[in-house]
Amino acid sequence: MSTPVLINTLEFVEQSLEIHDKIRASDLPRVQEVLFSGRGDVEYRLVGSRGSRGKFYLQLDLRGTLGLMCQRCLNGLDYPFEIVRRFELVKDESDIPDSDLDDDDVDYLVIEPRLNVTDLVEEEVLLALPMSLRHEDGCSSGDGAPKERKPNPFQVLEGLKTGNKS
Ligand SMILES: [Zn+2]
Repeated sequence: MSTPVLINTLEFVEQSLEIHDKIRASDLPRVQEVLFSGRGDVEYRLVGSRGSRGKFYLQLDLRGTLGLMCQRCLNGLDYPFEIVRRFELVKDESDIPDSDLDDDDVDYLVIEPRLNVTDLVEEEVLLALPMSLRHEDGCSSGDGAPKERKPNPFQVLEGLKTGNKS
């Protein structure tokens, strides 16, 4: 385990600081859990900035490649990703607007004297991982992964109907 990176978020944006680093997937236990190969790393860059009207922003850029599993052939699949997340800092939870009314571009973070950047990176990587991942150019495994495993659209509709029953 590497030492967690802690920042004082308010200080960080007030001074327009910036940090970047590379974290091995093996140092992100919850990401590690979903990995097929255990391989992969995440590069991140965190930038603090002041917006107009006294607003404070943190921007988190993430990129890397993770060894995930193809849901069709159950073999390894390298998943490259690039994510940009923007957070507005707020004093406390009550300052967070109703998420339904807000646009999806900005998220909110409560000001913290000791924000664990490693945790934040881990969280955002997990959120960005696809629910169902497949080899885009078709699976190449020789074990005859059946193509018919593709869900029957009628069954899917059926599932939706029953799922919505109240
Ligand atoms: Zn596959």
